[in-house]
Amino acid sequence: MARALSYISPAQLLAIQHLPKVAVIDVRDEERKYDGHIAGSLHVASGSFSENLPNLLAQVKAKDTVVFHCALSQVRGPSCARKFARYLENVNDDINIKEIMILEGGFNRWSDRRRPVCRCREVLCKGGSS
Ligand SMILES: [Zn+2]
Repeated sequence: MARALSYISPAQLLAIQHLPKVAVIDVRDEERKYDGHIAGSLHVASGSFSENLPNLLAQVKAKDTVVFHCALSQVRGPSCARKFARYLENVNDDINIKEIMILEGGFNRWSDRRRPVCRCREVLCKGGSS
């Protein structure tokens, strides 16, 4: 069954992002290094997104909500979310994921609204803030 994509606002994401069933996937490329990232997010650059799909799935298949974003969530975020949704349709695996979402306004709106931004160097952020 195809999963529909939907949007989530920064305020809604802030309310659920601490839940263990929620994963936030940052598909920006180099900007993650310079601008910081959403605390707790996992980095999968859009430039190598397709080849990383199996890895990504292994890390998030037990989640029930996966939220994608890029800088503005206009191009890379939605396109990676669609690739991920399409990929899931062809995988015969035990997958819990029910919702694939896109963060409205991307990282830029998130940081403009002073939501928690982290500057660690980890691919999978452990969630600190600065
Ligand atoms: Zn971090």
